[in-house]
Amino acid sequence: MSDQKRPIPQPGILDIAPYLPGKSGAPGSKAIKLSANESPLGASPQAVAAFAAAADHLEIYPEGSSRLLREALGEVHGIDPNAIVCGNGSDDLLHLLAQTYLGHGDEAVMNRYGFSVYPIITKAAGAEIVTVDEVDYTANVDALLAAITPRTRIVWLANPNNPTGTYLSVAEVARLHAGLRPDILLVIDSAYAEYVTAADYSVGLDLVEAHENVVMVRTFSKMGLAAARIGWMVGPGHVVDAINRIRGPFNVNLPAQLAGAAATRDIAFNQRLKAHNAQWRDWLTAQLQSNRMRVIPSQANFVMVLFETPELAARAFETLAAAGYIVREIGASYGIHNGLRISIGSEEAMRGVAEVLKSMEGAQ
Ligand SMILES: *Cc1c(COP(=O)(O)O)cnc(C)c1O
Repeated sequence: MSDQKRPIPQPGILDIAPYLPGKSGAPGSKAIKLSANESPLGASPQAVAAFAAAADHLEIYPEGSSRLLREALGEVHGIDPNAIVCGNGSDDLLHLLAQTYLGHGDEAVMNRYGFSVYPIITKAAGAEIVTVDEVDYTANVDALLAAITPRTRIVWLANPNNPTGTYLSVAEVARLHAGLRPDILLVIDSAYAEYVTAADYSVGLDLVEAHENVVMVRTFSKMGLAAARIGWMVGPGHVVDAINRIRGPFNVNLPAQLAGAAATRDIAFNQRLKAHNAQWRDWLTAQLQSNRMRVIPSQANFVMVLFETPELAARAFETLAAAGYIVREIGASYGIHNGLRISIGSEEAMRGVAEVLKSMEGAQ
């Protein structure tokens, strides 16, 4: 008989550093939140209407496979709905992939400044996370391939990456895939795909369709529906089958399914959001380049700004907060102590942020 006095988590669980979300500002404050890469234009009005209409049927379980949502996604993106699995946010699907393909003794590989959820879900599955160096805040294919061992089971790649905003071209992702054994799953997390304007980018569907070891994961969170928690993935049949065996049988709630389907079809709204983002991402990037600040070119709906020192980054965070702009610190969560991540917001917010940061420079 065990002499433990209380239930004990599995090995490794208590070694996991909890996810640190961006700050939100005091409740009731008028602070503008630029710390979680949310939409500055709200949600698609059609999605809001669909979400509200679902309130008439809250006593009924949702259709468990998110069929209407998968059909909308299939129609708009040209994908077989049977190759899609939906989740309670893409976080749900990332957890399920880790649980399905990782266990004790296994390794998953990621780039140094990759998304901070990957170490959490890897360790939660009992496996080890192997982190490899980047080149100028960009994932490096040679370094990722050099880290592959016989124990590697998953490569996690956010493309574009959060919190850096950098991306790998379609050719580089293909080169990464070509260097992996067929039993290693390449997870392409295209959370910011909707915002990419680079011509040599691909969301990853081409690789998914051509191979048995690639999945693409997407989310509605960055496109106006973060509160609804909707993610989706596309993968080969054997992966879809495995994930469907262990996901929650009703893992996407009905309002979310209907809102997601409406948002998928609201192409005009999605285009407006993308255009707004591209305009103000370029503008903010140009405004903030100076001797003392460096903006890493971003393909996402945020930019990472690097300061000369961690002290300057901390002072910029405080000065922005005092002016009513809450941005994302990326020291504790990502180890980028001289950086801040700033979501692309409204025109007014972007002008305000630029003004605060430039006046800080003048004061030095
Ligand atoms: C925001 C984000 C996600 C997912 O978010 P959900 O809200 O869980 O859908 C996934 N990957 C990356 C890289 C992200 O930045």
